Amino acid sequence: MISVKLKNGNSIEVPFSTTCAEIAKQISSGLAKEALAAEINGKVVDITTTVNADCSLHVVTFNDEAGKKVLRHTAAHVLAQAIKNLYPQVKLAIGPAIENGFYYDFDSEVPLSSDDLGKIESEMKRIIRQNSALERFALNRAEAVQFAERLNEPYKAELIRELPDGQPITFYRQGDFVDLCAGPHLPYTGMIKAVKLISCTGAYWRGDSNNKMLQRIYGTAFTKQSELDSYLAAQEEAKKRDHRKIGKELDLFSIDEYIGQGLILWHPKLSVVREEIELYWRKEHRRRGYEYIYTPHIGQSNLWETSGHLDHFAEGMYPKMKMAAKDETENTYYYVKPMSCPFHVRMYKTRPRSYRELPIRWCELGSVYRFEKSGALHGMLRVRGFTQDDAHIVCTEDQFVDEVNNVLDFALDINKAFGYDKLNVYLSVRDPQDKEKFIDNEPVWQLAESTLEKILSDRGIEFKKDIGGAKFYGPAIDLKAVDAMGREWQGTTIQLDMNLPERFGMTYVSSDGKEHTPIMLHRTLLGSMERFVGTLIEHYTGAFPVWLAPVQVKILAISERNHEYANKVLKVLRSEDIRVELDDRSEKVGYKIREAQLGKIPYMLILGDKEQNENVVAVRDRKNGETKKMNIEAFLTLIAEEILHKR
Ligand SMILES: [Zn+2]
Ligand SMILES: [Zn+2]
Repeated sequence: MISVKLKNGNSIEVPFSTTCAEIAKQISSGLAKEALAAEINGKVVDITTTVNADCSLHVVTFNDEAGKKVLRHTAAHVLAQAIKNLYPQVKLAIGPAIENGFYYDFDSEVPLSSDDLGKIESEMKRIIRQNSALERFALNRAEAVQFAERLNEPYKAELIRELPDGQPITFYRQGDFVDLCAGPHLPYTGMIKAVKLISCTGAYWRGDSNNKMLQRIYGTAFTKQSELDSYLAAQEEAKKRDHRKIGKELDLFSIDEYIGQGLILWHPKLSVVREEIELYWRKEHRRRGYEYIYTPHIGQSNLWETSGHLDHFAEGMYPKMKMAAKDETENTYYYVKPMSCPFHVRMYKTRPRSYRELPIRWCELGSVYRFEKSGALHGMLRVRGFTQDDAHIVCTEDQFVDEVNNVLDFALDINKAFGYDKLNVYLSVRDPQDKEKFIDNEPVWQLAESTLEKILSDRGIEFKKDIGGAKFYGPAIDLKAVDAMGREWQGTTIQLDMNLPERFGMTYVSSDGKEHTPIMLHRTLLGSMERFVGTLIEHYTGAFPVWLAPVQVKILAISERNHEYANKVLKVLRSEDIRVELDDRSEKVGYKIREAQLGKIPYMLILGDKEQNENVVAVRDRKNGETKKMNIEAFLTLIAEEILHKR
């Protein structure tokens, strides 16, 4: 008998050569029905695999990331088979599972368009209904190349030639279709209960623009039709909320390729939103004992050598500027800063520091520039230039736990102010398998990781460990905000730095009169202004709460007779610092209301003869579309209350 250890800690005994499917059945018939694959000693394999030695085993279902991958990768094979059935001349390239779906690349003489997707999808469904078994078989490399050539699949033959010789090369067969594949796969095509082809684009073979342009079809698959339906509905909703679309409609921001990729132009309306956030941010920082500082945008190469950025972060930096090109006596290079930390450290070192000054909390809205591949850029969410809401805390060992707790309190409050009540918490630690990526100081790492973990558990905060998510210089606590769509966004990060204090020789004189190395924390609360505000646009679908709204009130005059009264109301609101605009065009009031509604303006004040005679305003609320009459003081009280409470 073989002992199989399950994830819940229990072990079961099974005869030699039992399949994973049989083990799943032994655990429960419900689990057996949902089983898509198995994970033996951490490796995902076909559910038909037999177990021949003691092992740990997890039955993989669609709830597991691995299960989604196996199902969707099998759907990719079905897509390839459907394409071959419909267009026999097509040559297959690759077809992996990706986040939320799968794709397949193929070389076709006939260009395909999204109009063809319906037909291909129907053929896929026919193949799924056939419920063919997927059978795995292996060939040696020479045989495998021959096999691919016989099938007239040159891309597959090219891939096989690059695989190491001497190892079996595996294929999967379903019906009369065969694909080169390492697996794992579902045992039957019929287990794909819901499939949808999404789109069709071009893609270079191996992602290299020197190669031939192939065609790529994207799709997704689920184990239930209802899951597919809700996924597609969520996708539709996400499209509606896309900050790039809303940004254009509401004239919020733009990216001008003529200026440069990944660089955001903040239009006046969105600049108001940012200004409000920054005002709030500054006020809160001062209240919590931070001091603001400003530092330059560029720094000499020696700074980045000492900081370790040129060793560990060069890929993320813009190329250097050679100063000798301007002045031969300046034999140095400058770099645009990717982070502000080294500047803060040098400021700390301008004079000796005493323990009495600690903790020092310096914050800066620091604009930094980092190189990102152009393909990775995405609206305001992935950019090349951004402003971090940065701070560095320098403290003693005794102060460290309190300081982390203070930052956590601060982070929870500030996220709440923006309607992010739910945060997913991650403890980012080293990957023990990959220690070279991290600076070498075993005892300090262990202490740092366990201290951060203890802080979280002492507060009763639930968290996940992000193995390998630590920075090269230390572990971190990351809070990801969950938006109205349930998506999570990286915002707050609290990082312990075990590198810079040492490298720059930061010290303080302690009460014992001796010099000590302080502890340094990096933290951002919002992350970057660009990403944070980009996600806010999506979170609020462009309808910013009153305190952030670029225009808080729109006054609509019904006729010219009311212009004088409208201007009087405008002045009163302006004098109370309300962001207000007057629409005195000779358009119909219904048209003006619709326009203000589309502009997502929180309040409209509709002023006609009646309002003028009674000296009141008719207030139309964006939220419910209802109109209420009140005097101007009552409206001012109402809106001031909302602004004060950040609603
Ligand atoms: Zn495959
Ligand atoms: Zn920093």
